[in-house]
Amino acid sequence: MERFTYVTFFILSCVLVCFQVHRVLNYPTEVIVFEVANCLEALAAAVSRVCQTMAAANLPHNLLIADRGHRVFLYPNVFSQRAARGIIDEDILDTQIGPAVFEISGHMLIKTRDLYENISHQMCCRILREASVCETMLEGIINLALDTVDELPHHPCPCRFCSTKHCVDDLVGHEMTKD
Ligand SMILES: [Zn+2]
Repeated sequence: MERFTYVTFFILSCVLVCFQVHRVLNYPTEVIVFEVANCLEALAAAVSRVCQTMAAANLPHNLLIADRGHRVFLYPNVFSQRAARGIIDEDILDTQIGPAVFEISGHMLIKTRDLYENISHQMCCRILREASVCETMLEGIINLALDTVDELPHHPCPCRFCSTKHCVDDLVGHEMTKD
């Protein structure tokens, strides 16, 4: 699995930049990274506010806190929701891998010897892709993080992408369907 590479898409624009919000690029799961600039308390307050809002919206997520709290990875994780909706391929479910913070961070826990010897990079990407939120939801979470909105845009997400099978190649944005 490749290491995370990310670029800064958004910087909190205030007189004093307290923290930065990044988006991980070219990775199967959409990941947001908070990085401290000069105030750990501001970073912690922002992360906790985003997590509380996501929890209130029943949107599962994992956190990886790194570098003594100076960098926090937020993984919105809708794998179980998508499994409950019956839209995840059987061969993915058969691996019995439920991606959480370990798996999304790149540490895949393989439960059988047969799978360990045969699993491919492509399959790992497909598994992680199923945990990912869509572009619309990701933008909503980023806006939460930047404190430009108070709640998520929609829940559950009504877009075509969220209600259809995810594809590893489908790493770019998708069109919303109007209901
Ligand atoms: Zn969606």
